[in-house]
Amino acid sequence: MAKGTMKYIGKGLEEKKEKKAHAKVYLIKDRCKGCNFCIEFCPKQVLVESKEFNIKGYYLPKLVEIPGEKECVGCGYCSFICPEFAIFAELKDEEEH
Ligand code: SF4
Ligand code: SF4
Repeated sequence: MAKGTMKYIGKGLEEKKEKKAHAKVYLIKDRCKGCNFCIEFCPKQVLVESKEFNIKGYYLPKLVEIPGEKECVGCGYCSFICPEFAIFAELKDEEEH
């Protein structure tokens, strides 16, 4: 393979890494009923039960991310699985990282 081609492939990989999806999670606290479905089924395992509870007395989920390792990717599965429509994620703009 020509030297120039290798350089091009390397650059492509770097660009792909920089554009990794990243999202912010929003919770409508008083809708949550503490079922923990979002925590159990998040494919990135970035949700955990917090010590905070809502007006109904249910413990709320919270986001725990490890930059570069465990981060919300905005797949939307938590909002899909939540029976109370209490949680959703929005993709962040590149500059917001
Ligand atoms: S959007 Fe996906 S990765 Fe982010 S918290 Fe919800 S289920 Fe997890
Ligand atoms: S799935 Fe919805 S109702 Fe259940 S813990 Fe998560 S946010 Fe609360």
